[in-house]
Amino acid sequence: MFEAAQSCLAVGGISLDRLSERVGSTPFFAYDRRLITSRISYLRSVLPADIKLSYAVKANPMPAVVQHLAGLVDAFDVASAFEMKTALDTSISASHVSFAGPGKTTAELTQAVAAGVTIEMESASEASRVAEIGNRLGIRPRVALRVNPDFQVKGSGMRMGGGPQQFGIDVEEVPSLMRTLSSADLDLLGFHVFAGSQNLHADILCEALSRNVELLLRLAGECPWPVRYLNLGGGFGIPYFDKDRPLDLMPVGQRLADLMEAEIRPNLPDARVVIELGRYIVGESGVYVTRVIDRKVSRGRVYLVVDGGLHHQLAASGNFGQVIRRNYPIVVGNRMDDREMETVSVVGCLCTPLDLLGDNVSLPRAEIGDLIVIFQAGAYGLTASPTAFLGHPLPPEVLV
Ligand SMILES: *Cc1c(COP(=O)(O)O)cnc(C)c1O
Repeated sequence: MFEAAQSCLAVGGISLDRLSERVGSTPFFAYDRRLITSRISYLRSVLPADIKLSYAVKANPMPAVVQHLAGLVDAFDVASAFEMKTALDTSISASHVSFAGPGKTTAELTQAVAAGVTIEMESASEASRVAEIGNRLGIRPRVALRVNPDFQVKGSGMRMGGGPQQFGIDVEEVPSLMRTLSSADLDLLGFHVFAGSQNLHADILCEALSRNVELLLRLAGECPWPVRYLNLGGGFGIPYFDKDRPLDLMPVGQRLADLMEAEIRPNLPDARVVIELGRYIVGESGVYVTRVIDRKVSRGRVYLVVDGGLHHQLAASGNFGQVIRRNYPIVVGNRMDDREMETVSVVGCLCTPLDLLGDNVSLPRAEIGDLIVIFQAGAYGLTASPTAFLGHPLPPEVLV
């Protein structure tokens, strides 16, 4: 958690006042490297020792964050050529960079084959394109098959597996595809399954892991190549809203240990077994800091108008009018000890009523110049927001 020092929130041991002076302007994003490091240590202490940890770069692709994580995780998962370049600029070897996602272009696939990145193939036609590229370049592509399971994981904020999907190859199609590919010049390493995101329920994650392992081991049994790679996905969530309870990681770690010992290792003693996580690693390490520009009362309602908004932190606004909007955790960062509270709406500087960062929130009485801080801003913040909307400048990001 972030510390509060002398009634002022601190990020990376630096008080918010001093940090905003150093950054020189608001709004900005700040990520706390100690929080990222301690999250990885915690994961390592709970997950079995021979599970490899991969960071999904799209959660926070800031190069300094990715560089910091290069010294802490075993692999990177990327979803575009740009993310791949960021990942390849680190000490993580190309063979431990995996490239997943639908609609990879021929240019992206060519770069991935040339760099020796592992391509997680999302369709049969993508597989034949990769084989062609390999022939053309005279390089044997390193590939895995992303599998769309025949079951659904409930309780995820976002479902990306089960039923019809643009993600992965339907499991029932995989055996015949493997037979077709066995004559292609591909280095088929193994399988990938990623069926959902933002799950806070340990029991559901355990169940999903068990079913994923069962599914992938069944496919491994039919695979014409020795299977050396199993990417079990992840989907570990973080609490965003009032009623969210943090994920209890212990049972998940225990289930993974049981699966490794009883199922995976007896069948695949040497396979590289990977869990890939994005928001769980970085989401809670970041804050979005914005300044009160105006304070106004309209027919009895207090509005704090800030210099940031949904163009930087879309998710906190409710994603352009999502049906049920809930508040992200929000504080007045320079009044952590103030006791006199009031109910206010915190709105951004865009000309739309959807630019709402806090709706009817109870905050200490804030004045013009105060710093409003939104937590859980370390993942899917700046790069997942419509920064060009209204043409305000990009906010700086700092890793402290
Ligand atoms: C986005 C993504 C992730 C990361 O999801 P989080 O919810 O941030 O953990 C992992 N794997 C794949 C394939 C993804 O597309």
